[in-house]
Amino acid sequence: MAVASLYREPEAADTREPPALELLDVFRIYSSGSIETVALRGLSLRVQAGELVAVMGPSGSGKSTFLSLAAGLDTPSAGEVRVHGRPLSRMNEDQLAEYRARHVALVFQSGNLWPALSAQENVEMSLRLARGDDVPGRAATALATFGLAARRRHRAAALSGGEQQRVAIAAAAARRAPLVLADEPTGELDAANERNVVDALRRLREEHHATVVIVTHSARLAHTADRVIELRDGRVA
Ligand code: ADP
Repeated sequence: MAVASLYREPEAADTREPPALELLDVFRIYSSGSIETVALRGLSLRVQAGELVAVMGPSGSGKSTFLSLAAGLDTPSAGEVRVHGRPLSRMNEDQLAEYRARHVALVFQSGNLWPALSAQENVEMSLRLARGDDVPGRAATALATFGLAARRRHRAAALSGGEQQRVAIAAAAARRAPLVLADEPTGELDAANERNVVDALRRLREEHHATVVIVTHSARLAHTADRVIELRDGRVA
C-alpha cells in the first residue's frame, strides 16, 4: 500500500485533519515470569496538531508507558496508536525508524544530552541523526533562539539543569520535529528555570507549530497547557 494512503482513515469522509496523536483503547501489559502488570488498560485519547497538552496522574498511572508508545519505542499489547491518522502498527521497521528519528523529539527530566559534548555539538548530533542539512548553522540559530548563544561552547555537563533542558528543546526546534514528547522536563528545576523551560516549550508550539505533550507533576506547568489529561490506573480519569 502506498505510504501516503496510510495517513487517511478509510472512513475519512469528513475533511477535518486527523489528530496529531491518537490512542484507541490501548492496553500495555508487562509480563515477568508469572506476574503481569497492566500499565495501560483501555487508554483512549486524542491530541490535536499544535496543541500543548499536560499529562498528569499519580506515580504508576501509566504516564511513562504512554510516552514510550507515542514515541514508537514500545508497542501496545492491544489497541492502536495513530499519528496523523496513521497506525504505528502498520509501519515497517524503516518507517518506524524514520518516525522516531525525524518526527519525534524527546525531552527528559535528566536532559538527554551527551555530557562530554558542547551544547552546539549536542544539537548538531541530534540534527545529523535526523539527517538535517546546514547542521552547524541550524544548531547555532536554534541555540540563540532559546537564549543559549553564550553557552554554545560549554560542555553539556557544565550547564545548569534548566540550560540542559533548553538545549534539548533547541535540538527539537532545529530538527523541526512535529511531535515533542517531554517527561517531567521541569522536575528538578526551581521556579525561575521552570518558567524558562515552559516558555521554550510554548515557543516550540507557537513558532515551530509543534504538537507538545508534557508528562508533569507541576501544577504551574499544567496551568500553562491548553489542556490537562489526567491518567489514573492506566486510563483517562
Ligand atoms: P508512571 O509513569 O505514571 O509512574 P509507568 O508507566 O511508569 O507509570 O508504570 C505503570 C505501571 O507499569 C506501574 O505499575 C509500573 O510498575 C509498571 N511498569 C512500568 N514499566 C514496567 C516494566 N518494564 N516491567 C514491569 N512493569 C512495569
